[in-house]
Amino acid sequence: MMKKFKYLIPKTLDEAVSLNQSHEGSAMYVAGGTDVMVKIKSGKLAPDYLISLKHIGVGSQLGVNRETGALHIGGLVTHRALETSSLIRLQYPIIHDAVQRIGSTQIRNVATIGGNLVNAVPSADGAIPLIALDARVNIYGSAGERTVDLVHFFEGPGQTVMDPGEIVTEIVVPKQPSRTGGAYQKFGRRAAMELPLIGVGVLITLEEGSNRCAKARITLGVAAPTPIRTLTAERYLVGKEVTENTLNEAGKLAAEESRVRDSVRGLAWYRREMVLVFVQRMGVKCMQRIKETEAL
Ligand SMILES: Cc1cc2nc3c(=O)[nH]c(=O)nc-3n(C[C@H](O)[C@H](O)[C@H](O)COP(=O)(O)OP(=O)(O)OC[C@H]3O[C@@H](n4cnc5c(N)ncnc54)[C@H](O)[C@@H]3O)c2cc1C
Repeated sequence: MMKKFKYLIPKTLDEAVSLNQSHEGSAMYVAGGTDVMVKIKSGKLAPDYLISLKHIGVGSQLGVNRETGALHIGGLVTHRALETSSLIRLQYPIIHDAVQRIGSTQIRNVATIGGNLVNAVPSADGAIPLIALDARVNIYGSAGERTVDLVHFFEGPGQTVMDPGEIVTEIVVPKQPSRTGGAYQKFGRRAAMELPLIGVGVLITLEEGSNRCAKARITLGVAAPTPIRTLTAERYLVGKEVTENTLNEAGKLAAEESRVRDSVRGLAWYRREMVLVFVQRMGVKCMQRIKETEAL
């Protein structure tokens, strides 16, 4: 039988942090609850207190800062809110690609981006595009606020750099240079409700007036114990014309750099092949998206 817990509803960030402190070790935060409740029901977690983050008054905003041009996504923003935002669909399609395939509509209606990051599974669909976009995470705790680059946020499966009691308040995506295109592919055997065999995010910025690559990000999920960037593949692309051939070579390098493993869902050699295929395909999609934006 599921263990009973007390459900606490703090109204401010500080109240949430201090409730967590006063019940140290026996309390945990809950946002959408899609991960927490599954773990409580299966007996993997048995907290005495669940501290809801839904009413703390921060973390629900989504928008662009007019001065810096940076995109701010509150930690409590749901995948569905991201999926249905025209800002995300038009200006950050790489995020849209990812969030529209998380779980089902019911899951996306309640599951949050902050919960997805803190849950820290190697397949976290929300994380891969955000790492490609050089996102940073704002974290609040009893010692105040700090900021961590998302690529350094994950330490292992289920492990992050967060201290107990800290809260993800928002994710900040810096303004991207013009001529940037991004795309994400979650590859699985079914269209929905499945963890990916591999997740591939590609982001390319082109130099002005040519197809030469000025910046590249190639990020992978389920290819290592945490979401990763493939630096050798990224460096290879920079300074080169982006063509099917160079994307193919970048895909090979990314596949070599990945640390894929055999699992019940797929064998390592197959996952490596899929990295190659999807880096190339997502690269082509980035180029199409850059061209589409320029044609507007
Ligand atoms: C049927 C099903 C399908 C799913 N499909 C996918 C999928 O396709 N892709 C995918 O990536 N994930 C998937 N998930 C996992 C899950 O839905 C996501 O990880 C989701 O984004 C978690 O958000 P949440 O708000 O529900 O987190 P919660 O369950 O509320 O919390 C998750 C963890 O994060 C902590 N936490 C939550 N918010 C914060 C915060 N702001 N600050 C600090 N700590 C916090 C909680 O204490 C807990 O440890 C699926 C889950 C289910 C049940």
